[in-house]
Amino acid sequence: MKVLEEKPWTTEATCKGCGSRLEVEAADVRAVEFEISDCDHTSYSCKCGVCKTDIELEAGKIAPGVRDEAVKRWRKSRKSRW
Ligand SMILES: [Zn+2]
Repeated sequence: MKVLEEKPWTTEATCKGCGSRLEVEAADVRAVEFEISDCDHTSYSCKCGVCKTDIELEAGKIAPGVRDEAVKRWRKSRKSRW
């Protein structure tokens, strides 16, 4: 397929810490994988650019490709720490 015009993914979020309205870009999304009773879960968040508070993002609001990239970054950062 040929992409004629790529529309970069963004979503809006409101910071609970300072109330700022933010436009979250793909590179801002951070994934964290964890286990709850033998089940794998992934949570997504970003950091407020104003007050640095973590803002939780609903997985359903994030494009699948953006989620994949965030998970890849998370796995990479975990690997380099060990
Ligand atoms: Zn904030």
